[in-house]
Amino acid sequence: MSHEYLSWGRINNATSMLDYAPISRNKNLDFADVNRILTYGNGRSYGDVCLSDQASIINSRFLNKFIHFDRKDGILTCEAGITLQEILKLIVPTGWFLSVTPGTQYVTLGGAIANDVHGKNHHAVGSFGCFVEEFELCLSSNERLICSKAQNANYFFATIGGLGLTGWIVWAKIRLLPICNPNMVTNSYKFANLDEYFALNTELAANNDYTVAWIDCLSSGAKLGRGIYFTGAHAGYQEELIQPKASHLGMPIYLPVSLINRYSLQIFNFLYYNRRQSSAPVMQHYEPFFYPLDAINNWNRLYGQKGFYQYQFVIPFTNAREVIAEVLKHISKRKMGSFLAVLKTMGDIGSGGLLSFARPGVTLALDFANQGNKTIELFRILDQIVLEAGGAIYPAKDACMSPELFMRGYPNLDKFKLLKDPKFSSNFWRRVVGE
Ligand SMILES: Cc1cc2nc3c(=O)[nH]c(=O)nc-3n(C[C@H](O)[C@H](O)[C@H](O)COP(=O)(O)OP(=O)(O)OC[C@H]3O[C@@H](n4cnc5c(N)ncnc54)[C@H](O)[C@@H]3O)c2cc1C
Repeated sequence: MSHEYLSWGRINNATSMLDYAPISRNKNLDFADVNRILTYGNGRSYGDVCLSDQASIINSRFLNKFIHFDRKDGILTCEAGITLQEILKLIVPTGWFLSVTPGTQYVTLGGAIANDVHGKNHHAVGSFGCFVEEFELCLSSNERLICSKAQNANYFFATIGGLGLTGWIVWAKIRLLPICNPNMVTNSYKFANLDEYFALNTELAANNDYTVAWIDCLSSGAKLGRGIYFTGAHAGYQEELIQPKASHLGMPIYLPVSLINRYSLQIFNFLYYNRRQSSAPVMQHYEPFFYPLDAINNWNRLYGQKGFYQYQFVIPFTNAREVIAEVLKHISKRKMGSFLAVLKTMGDIGSGGLLSFARPGVTLALDFANQGNKTIELFRILDQIVLEAGGAIYPAKDACMSPELFMRGYPNLDKFKLLKDPKFSSNFWRRVVGE
């Protein structure tokens, strides 16, 4: 039966030819008469990397069982359709945490590997793929490969960050991080402009496990790039346990228009930047620290029927301040400020993933309501800036980068093509590579 699949930005969709919903990890799927295959995780990618028109879609969410948990050494093996939230529910009470987590816990293990996701601790520990010990990869020929650094290493490094194009990850084994309890000790620091951000980052990134900054995209002039810098660390034994707050907030319907526009943004940014801040560390549960947006169910519907884009790029440290300033000036000039504008530096620990996005440099992630050509025109300008700076756009967030930008940002593309499965393909792949 065919089915319509959406991604998180709700601009892209795809209709499948056939859906597989495997419930047994040992049973092969019948790919014999199928030309185009893609695995769908939980659709938390923003653009078209998780979509494939007229394809047979492996809906991985039913394969969500724990296989083995070594509580002594913190090694967990699960089926790849399990979500990070389901993993955290099991491991946190036993004193373990995910070594790397993105900004939502509603992604699957397979999706986290396929996009080699990064978190607030990239500068210190690298990306998700750095903590993958091994996995089983099923090819369209139904050959199954156990992949690790020691076994089928070429497939291991092609699949980490491989955008789901080397085959279907059936299960994976990951290394966890020991923690004392679910609490986080967090701090926040206001910065008045980009120069202050870079000065703060030099001081704070070296001594903090987790760092990230929110910036006010509408600010300009001497205030260009002002924002708030957040740091965090897992708390020690002595701290009082904080319970997560149950959230009942949600967007039940698709609004006809976006609630996020330049007027609501101006108010939000002003209030957020000027909110009362504690100068002392604040203790909080890990959920609001790592996953603030998960508190509002279906928050993507705030952008209305037309959906929204996310634009995330990384550029090398050289000239980063000037390049980020140029990007912000273009956005501020067009009054197209982003509700979510997240600035972070990335470190030099790589997972080895051939197509991994995370690399040393500065990354900026921005959300934009879909305003048609006006938004695309802005992206074309930003693309040129990123290209000239030697940067790359993140496929997990992308819906319109050019083939040239993909090729230039991902120099291992030719090596990757040799390991790509001939039947696995996505709308993203056909858009940027043309096959
Ligand atoms: C609120 C929010 C915050 C986010 N924050 C971050 C962040 O901080 N850092 C970051 O890096 N990303 C972030 N993301 C992006 C998100 O982490 C990635 O897009 C992630 O890959 C989505 O996982 P998914 O399970 O939903 O997979 P999908 O979006 O469904 O698929 C993603 C890719 O994985 C492939 N795939 C999925 N399962 C398998 C499998 N079993 N075998 C082979 N391939 C598979 C798909 O084919 C596709 O190419 C965020 C997304 C949201 C919505």
